[in-house]
Amino acid sequence: MAEPLSPEESATLAALLAGSDPVRGALRGQLPHTRVVGRCGCGCVTVDLAVDRTAAAPATAHVSPAVDATYGGPDFAGVMVLTDEGYLSRLEIYSISDEPITRWPEPRFIG
Ligand SMILES: [Zn+2]
Repeated sequence: MAEPLSPEESATLAALLAGSDPVRGALRGQLPHTRVVGRCGCGCVTVDLAVDRTAAAPATAHVSPAVDATYGGPDFAGVMVLTDEGYLSRLEIYSISDEPITRWPEPRFIG
């Protein structure tokens, strides 16, 4: 499979990659060239990502996950941006409960 990012996935990634950090900036520049290539089997909204590496530059060396954040608000959860060789590879959400998270919380709750 290879699908465009959904509006919710795009908004979540844009919020997580905001700011002046050069690694986040490079990853943000990859978003127009990023496709969804897989989904988590548990029912949650985690997606595997692939970037057209001929169209976008990799981020400089960094530790993956490049971003590790949490949501406050009504849907407390963790969210991570994982990379492979400087390219976006996974947008992962995880719950502290047993229930998979089946929709992206609003980016404004990222805290
Ligand atoms: Zn899952």
